[in-house]
Amino acid sequence: DAHLKGIEALNPRLNAFITVTAEVAREQAKAADQALGKGEGRALTGIPLAIKDLFCTAGTRTTAASKILGNFVPPYESTVTANLLRDGAVFLGKANLDEFAMGSSNATSAFGGVENPWKRAGDDTVLVPGGSSGGSAAAVAARLALGATATDTGGSIRQPAAFCGIAGIKPTYGRVSRFGTVAFASSLDQAGPVARTVEDCAILLRSMAGFDPRDATSADVAVPDFASACARGVKGLRIGIPREFRLPGMPAEIEALWQQGIAWLRDAGAETVEISLPHTQYALPTYYIVAPAEASSNLARYDGVRFGLREEGADLKDLYERTRRAGFGDEVRRRILIGTYVLSAGYYDAYYLKAQKIRALIKRDFDEAWGKVDAILTPATPSAAFGRDEKQDDPVAMYLNDVFTVTANLAGIPGMSVPAGLDSKGLPLGLQVLGKSFDEETVFAVGHAIE
Ligand code: GLN
Repeated sequence: DAHLKGIEALNPRLNAFITVTAEVAREQAKAADQALGKGEGRALTGIPLAIKDLFCTAGTRTTAASKILGNFVPPYESTVTANLLRDGAVFLGKANLDEFAMGSSNATSAFGGVENPWKRAGDDTVLVPGGSSGGSAAAVAARLALGATATDTGGSIRQPAAFCGIAGIKPTYGRVSRFGTVAFASSLDQAGPVARTVEDCAILLRSMAGFDPRDATSADVAVPDFASACARGVKGLRIGIPREFRLPGMPAEIEALWQQGIAWLRDAGAETVEISLPHTQYALPTYYIVAPAEASSNLARYDGVRFGLREEGADLKDLYERTRRAGFGDEVRRRILIGTYVLSAGYYDAYYLKAQKIRALIKRDFDEAWGKVDAILTPATPSAAFGRDEKQDDPVAMYLNDVFTVTANLAGIPGMSVPAGLDSKGLPLGLQVLGKSFDEETVFAVGHAIE
């Protein structure tokens, strides 16, 4: 009830939820009370969560923040949300996001942008919560939910977590099932939690994760108790500091935060080692070819015939065109156009194939680094949250937001954003911890030591 009241009071301003499921939440909470009364509590019994509106929830509208799915009520539950329900969670509603998770500021949502609950000191400018999981991060930061589900294709868990002063982890590709999660770029998409603390993320991830035969890329590996890994400490760990992440023109405050993080980890008994990830400079162009290519293919299914928005037309082609014209926003169209271009005959070798080769080199950089270090520390974002009116009409400036986060998706490795301090205007900044595939435990240990 306290969370629902908070949502009622603040959501009209923050717009963190597209759909509030108060009735469902009250019923689930009642069931949780009964379970606890009978001594049958589970890991998340009675814990109120926000669900990014990209996860299909049976009987509850799931929009992907797009007009094209504006009326879509899934007949089935995503594996992630089914796992959370199995463990007793309570769902408060569906969190806002960038349309089809494409964006870094939540400005592309067909349901309006999300407002970051944080403000610069002495300045009323409305700031973005980051994206694409901006509604999830804003809801947790504003205390409208104890945690939230999110997804990360190029940074959409870690960047909004950093902008909103909370923790978030993108697990190893394959750790969490993608079944029932609306697809953006299937070889990069991974779901994960955002929450106030690293340990809360650990508890949520344990519940979300696990092998699922309905996702062909789901990994059949045991899910460890991530929460107990938080307490391991970092004594004796070797932490890599990649020199290519020291960007020319990077704000002094970001560099200072990074140095602070290095000092904290050394004080806690870790050794820091300078490493090189030489193909980092190609990560953004590689990502912005691979992701739109996969998106253009995934989004072909929204044709007005099978589900979602339908605009009648003179013939089938006309119906497709009218439906897609009415249903997709500008950023989604841009991605579809880029994607179909780089996949088309004649350009495939020059762009898509080349990007795949560079992707392999980026992955190899990390494989080589793991010979020397156990985890890697970098800034999470090149800046703190920016104003709603900044960068919005410059797609390339917006894409630069993802400079520190996209390599983890291209390589498939886990990455966490940990709240690590405030800038001179009082806005939160995050540090990023990267780890080996399926070694989230070390990522949690390092994240917990920084927090
Ligand atoms: N900002 C990136 C993009 O627009 C990443 C989004 C995401 O991780 N879903 O593609």
